[in-house]
Amino acid sequence: MYRVNAEFFGLNYVGVPLHSDFTLDLEAMLAAIHTHQPALVFLAYPNNPTGGRFEREQMEAIIQAAPGIVVIDEAYGAFSSDSFLRQAGTIDKLVVLRTLSKIGFAGLRVGYAAGAPALIHELRKIIPPYNVSQLNLAAAEFAMKYRPFILQHINQSMGERERMRTALRAYDCVEDFASEANFLTVRVPDAQVLFDTLYANKILIKNLHGTHPLLDQCVRITIGLPEQNQAVLRVIDELYGNL
Ligand SMILES: *Cc1c(COP(=O)(O)O)cnc(C)c1O
Repeated sequence: MYRVNAEFFGLNYVGVPLHSDFTLDLEAMLAAIHTHQPALVFLAYPNNPTGGRFEREQMEAIIQAAPGIVVIDEAYGAFSSDSFLRQAGTIDKLVVLRTLSKIGFAGLRVGYAAGAPALIHELRKIIPPYNVSQLNLAAAEFAMKYRPFILQHINQSMGERERMRTALRAYDCVEDFASEANFLTVRVPDAQVLFDTLYANKILIKNLHGTHPLLDQCVRITIGLPEQNQAVLRVIDELYGNL
């Protein structure tokens, strides 16, 4: 979406590929910043669709090197062990994005940007008037009254994520990657076969194969309720248990 939005606004988009293990290629990132002098740098922390969280020190190096605004997209921040929210407002060029979308309220369309007052003042000039409806704001406020319940659900998801990762790691043919999001991205022998088999069992995952060269035979599995995750593991065991 960063590319789609940049191109929509007629901007010159430059994507910097990650390493093959989905860690940040800091050297390539710093070189690209040096070459292109970007007005805007977007970093997803944790990243989507790979799930990993880049190293904080690498993020800080990018913030330091960037000549313009650095946006840290923390859509999955609730599931992460680290955040830049505390730094928002202390670094002039830093903006941190958060959303309710990944913690159970995708339909509300409520999120926010946090940053230094001068920067937020400029952002206010370009957002459409009444860009979030009163009804959605009231619903978000109501949802936040149930914060302990939401946090409990997030905690359960993080526990299930680690349980799923351990279970998937037992299969020689499955390559797992660390995740600090509410999903696991794994590489399997045939992503389409896994997608189709799960689909036949009324389970929908995301087939990432073909979306980027680094995501060869990868799928993204969103963590669900324990019994839903169990259903996924059952299908995977039928497919890969005897390989
Ligand atoms: C889901 C997501 C968003 C934004 O979601 P909204 O529903 O528009 O708030 C932003 N960045 C990443 C990386 C996401 O996965």
